[in-house]
Amino acid sequence: MKVLIVSQREVAELLPMSECMDAMADVFRMLARGEAQLPLRQVLHLPGGKGAFAVMPAVLGGEAQSTALGVKALTVMPGNHGTGYDSHQGAVLLFEGVHGSLQAILDASAVTAIRTAAVSGVATRALAREDAGDLAILGTGVQADTHLEAMIAARPLRRIRAWSRGAEHVRAFASRAAKRHGVEVEPARSAREAVVGADLVCTVTSAREPVLQAGWVGAGAHVNAVGASVATARELDSDTVVRARVFVDRRESALAEAGELVIPRGEGRIGEDHIKGELGEVLLGRRPGRLSPADLTVFKSLGLAVEDVAAARLVHARALARVLGTWVELGGERLPNP
Ligand code: NDP
Repeated sequence: MKVLIVSQREVAELLPMSECMDAMADVFRMLARGEAQLPLRQVLHLPGGKGAFAVMPAVLGGEAQSTALGVKALTVMPGNHGTGYDSHQGAVLLFEGVHGSLQAILDASAVTAIRTAAVSGVATRALAREDAGDLAILGTGVQADTHLEAMIAARPLRRIRAWSRGAEHVRAFASRAAKRHGVEVEPARSAREAVVGADLVCTVTSAREPVLQAGWVGAGAHVNAVGASVATARELDSDTVVRARVFVDRRESALAEAGELVIPRGEGRIGEDHIKGELGEVLLGRRPGRLSPADLTVFKSLGLAVEDVAAARLVHARALARVLGTWVELGGERLPNP
């Protein structure tokens, strides 16, 4: 059987942000309706604290729908920032549900970069105030680039500030933003300077300790907390989380893997009921999102395998339609007995 290989550049071409946002909204509704299966992801930590190796499988589709299944296997390497290597390396394997055959192998760097930001874009549309448009981005790496694109798609932006520790990283981010989107990014000298006065905040750093403090975030703001994805790391301090209406991608994952929730729970400052809903529940109207223009809303993103499978399914369909990708003969046939 033949398998389609879809490269990083091809994934980027086949997965425009606005279409990925629609696909992510659909898959979060499926998840909330119980039409998707996924376990907690498995993460192995590499010796010397260099990074992590994660495996993320999921199955999409109820009995009445066509099934898509897949797994993302990737390394997460914070030390790759500033090198020629993306922070996330690996592949998404997409299978079909009739014979269970492997259909496609896609570059995971591009899928991860785009689908994560698309989910934040969907959360922003669902939770931020309609008039939100003063954006602060903490972090200036891969996710900062795609999050800027997603925030431009989610709301008309009036102002954009960015901060990360390396001033040269901030300048490079501003220059990419000007080239790609024709927007001005104001470099901030501190996280505080970026955040004070903003009503949209994306935290997309590899920090393990909080980079955002409650006192800086104004009433009515919306925060997408994206960078931390293990129980021992967080970008938001406990006060921010306690103050906020908190929404998550998946309750079970957030309670096990999100330092933003696990740490204040351990301090006895919040309970499980502090999570006001999953993104899919808000999109289905089963749970209210923002209740008042003065609410501080937080969307805690961990990243789910269902996002990768939904993105891979879309890319695969579009690659077939556009005759992109490279076919290789792999296997999976029942061979005749010798
Ligand atoms: P990059 O390596 O490209 O960028 C990391 C950014 O974090 C850089 O801007 C770096 O800038 C900044 N940074 C690193 N350490 C710190 C620190 N201690 N304090 C403040 N800033 C810091 O990574 P990505 O953009 O690809 O990913 C960003 C984060 O998002 C990662 O932690 C990643 O695991 C997570 N992620 C989450 C996903 C999800 O679905 N929720 C999916 C994909 C990624 P500088 O050195 O200038 O400070």
